[in-house]
Amino acid sequence: MSDTMKAAVLTGPERIETQQTPVPEPGPGEVLVRVGAVGICGSDLHFFRGQLQKDTSYPMVLGHEFAGEVVALGPGVTDVAAGVRAACAPDRPCGRCEWCRKGEANVCPDVRFAASHGEPGCLCEYYALHAGQLHPIPDSVTFEQAALFEPMATGLHIVENLVKPSGGETYAIMGAGPDGLATLLAARENGASRVFLSDLVPERLEAARKLGADGTCDSGRQDFIEFLRQQTQGRGVDVVVEAAGAVPAIQQVFHAAAIHGKAVILGIPRVDELKVNLTAARRRELTVIAARRTVGKYDRALELIAGGKFDTDVVITHRFPLDETQRAFECVRDRADGVVKAMVIP
Ligand SMILES: [Zn+2]
Ligand SMILES: [Zn+2]
Repeated sequence: MSDTMKAAVLTGPERIETQQTPVPEPGPGEVLVRVGAVGICGSDLHFFRGQLQKDTSYPMVLGHEFAGEVVALGPGVTDVAAGVRAACAPDRPCGRCEWCRKGEANVCPDVRFAASHGEPGCLCEYYALHAGQLHPIPDSVTFEQAALFEPMATGLHIVENLVKPSGGETYAIMGAGPDGLATLLAARENGASRVFLSDLVPERLEAARKLGADGTCDSGRQDFIEFLRQQTQGRGVDVVVEAAGAVPAIQQVFHAAAIHGKAVILGIPRVDELKVNLTAARRRELTVIAARRTVGKYDRALELIAGGKFDTDVVITHRFPLDETQRAFECVRDRADGVVKAMVIP
């Protein structure tokens, strides 16, 4: 194996170029994976657009939704063999803090996360990660299907860990991108009576209908709150999930919920502070939930993918080689060409 590899390097705002970089050396407890597929996530777009976090600077490599094949083992790795195909979790929690010990590692303050706070991302040919981040997949699951397990696990986290439904609930999901669609499936798996989605991209609404949405609203043409009022005889829905990260959608969340409903904010807007109508939340006595990433749902997400319940053909609409990562990001940024999930295949 050569000691250099191709990596898609973000060298400045909106500028990604392929560069030769050193192949990482797997450290103690780590494995080296040949990356098979990487999903482009809405959260990657913040960096692409030039919004950096503290501890991040250009040049950097993006990408955190991935799957691949183990090609080398670091010192002390005994429970994984070369040749294992696996979905790769992007997060490496500290394992020691109060939240890690309670099984809530998604909020670990010391978590290391691919392409975040100085950690390298996976838009490259080889990636070193802890063996515990691997979730082996059967031969019937492709790398690109497996790379969808992170958004699917996010949908399951929203519904099963945070909303904790008892069944029969109505849902409104704002945003029919991969996270919104995964939340739709998670809601259906947990006995939702009806699920409605809104988006501005007609192809995403089509995907939502294929995955079992009971109603969809093109929010560029019709006000989603008005649509929900019609669908629920003015009552509102039991659970609202904002999965678009769009300021106007977040401002509508409380208005969509029924009395004693739950409002979940999952999407990451471009601003940290915005105006919301608290009176709408108070009068309905809503439970407001802010969601972060996922925890404890990776294996169940893979089951839904392997079993064909999460129809990845509906979700994965675009594929790009590593050399065209720039084009992949532009496509997702512009929501061009009906894109739902774009995959980069290194
Ligand atoms: Zn993601
Ligand atoms: Zn921790």
